[in-house]
Amino acid sequence: MRVLPLGGIGEIGKNMTILEYEDKLLIVDVGLRFPTAEMVGIDLVLPDFSYLRGRVDDIEGIVITHGHEDHLGALPWVLRELRAEGAELPPIFGAPLTMAMARSKLDEHRLKDLDVEDVKAGEHLELGPFDVELIHMTHSIPDAVAVAVTTDVGTVLITGDYKFDQTPVDGKPADIARLAQLGADGLLLLCGDSTNADRPGFSPSESGVGPHLEQTFARCEGRIVVTCFASNIHRVQQVVDAAEQLGRKVALLGRSMRKNVNIGKSLGHIDVPDGMLVQPREIDSFPDEKLVIVSTGSQGEPLSALRRMAFSDHPQVELRRGDTIVFAATPIPGNERAVNETIDRLFHIGTTVITARDAPIHASGHGYAEELKLMLNLTKPTYVMPFHGDYKRLELHGKLAEAVGVPAENIFKGENGLPLELNAKGARFGKPERAGMVFVDGVEIGDVADVALRDRRMLSADGIFVVVATISEQDGTSVAEPEVIFRGVPFPDEAENLLDDIRDTVDKSLARAAKEGVHENDVVQGMLHDDLAQLVYERLRRRPMVLPVVVEV
Ligand SMILES: [Zn+2]
Ligand SMILES: [Zn+2]
Repeated sequence: MRVLPLGGIGEIGKNMTILEYEDKLLIVDVGLRFPTAEMVGIDLVLPDFSYLRGRVDDIEGIVITHGHEDHLGALPWVLRELRAEGAELPPIFGAPLTMAMARSKLDEHRLKDLDVEDVKAGEHLELGPFDVELIHMTHSIPDAVAVAVTTDVGTVLITGDYKFDQTPVDGKPADIARLAQLGADGLLLLCGDSTNADRPGFSPSESGVGPHLEQTFARCEGRIVVTCFASNIHRVQQVVDAAEQLGRKVALLGRSMRKNVNIGKSLGHIDVPDGMLVQPREIDSFPDEKLVIVSTGSQGEPLSALRRMAFSDHPQVELRRGDTIVFAATPIPGNERAVNETIDRLFHIGTTVITARDAPIHASGHGYAEELKLMLNLTKPTYVMPFHGDYKRLELHGKLAEAVGVPAENIFKGENGLPLELNAKGARFGKPERAGMVFVDGVEIGDVADVALRDRRMLSADGIFVVVATISEQDGTSVAEPEVIFRGVPFPDEAENLLDDIRDTVDKSLARAAKEGVHENDVVQGMLHDDLAQLVYERLRRRPMVLPVVVEV
């Protein structure tokens, strides 16, 4: 049996692991990573999944541990590429909330006719030579699971992201009894979350955040804007509860916030009393002291609702002195600059800003050192391979395993692409497989050098068109004449009404996207890119770079 991590080792992001036995494959997680500042022009980073090329028929299934982007986000991209090989795509499994999020993503990428199945924690799946069981865990999104995979060789447990929250908001702590049972039956290998291996003690419970939110809100006289991850449905629940206690109503801002609350409501993960929600367009007519706005943008994301409010560029909400902005989230590594910039703009406007440094209004979704030890002691693995962390935290996780009695030679410090081979005799690293990063530049997948070179080639030969389309956040239709900016495009005289035709094409593409229910910004931009590139080529017989930018208002 082989365990091959393609991502998540030596990095936070793009978690993807392939288990292989008797030439059959099982995939656990298909995550992405957001680009660092120096990856100019790159939108997303995927794991290099070349290993799967030509082997789609061997894949028995794909299991997703939870709905975070670093575990689920690359799924549509990877499936799109694998489908291009013409083979039938494998079934996808996960807990109901995770699968609801997966379906929504796959729809946005127009990937249809896939077998996406809800699996409850505790159920077993027989997938070829693999017996797969999902085990309920606690994390900063509901329905997180660990995955236990058993073959004739033994059982491998991939923890996914977890903490041992004794008082989770939904009253469902991790299935400690089942983990202990795995340990009693003999666990071969533990692949565990290392994110907070450097933090001593136990992580604070999510339910401890609620009272602090309420205390914080109680001190505010004006409007309150809270920002947190839209997928942290229990955090949103606690914001709603605190607002209710103080007689305030709640408005949800940002598409992903509304979408996740809707999915969460339909699956019973969040309870919003009737009459509690205020529509964004009603915000202005509502008394300041009666309102809590819950917004996306806790990571300073460029087009998020909070970022736009901070830059006085939001269509519905104009922030002003007297408003309080509450950051119920901390920046994930790499986002600090964008978050600091957002906060500084908020100070410039004159709002009060409260972050997790000022009050305990955030709790990490990842267990601290004592929780990682608890996992090790419960499951008593023969071998340990730390997952999900930079090298420092993987090393520290290894040290924790040694501290609870795992022999140093049984702790495997992996690399992306380095398979751990397990059999009756023992475990050892095999020959490295190809692994690394694949970049998505809006529409296409490629090697970064290829993308950069191609871009430079296009710019120098044929110039660039930038097309800015302004669309309605409600229905995705065009609300203003598209702006067209071009530089270095060799323009023959006979192409003079090209600009009008470009504007027409933008309107047509957007109408088509709206009709097909496509909302994801990068997909809409992809459609615009394809239509515009075709038009420009037909008219100019050249291929300038076409850069569509979609702005929602
Ligand atoms: Zn993660
Ligand atoms: Zn996570």
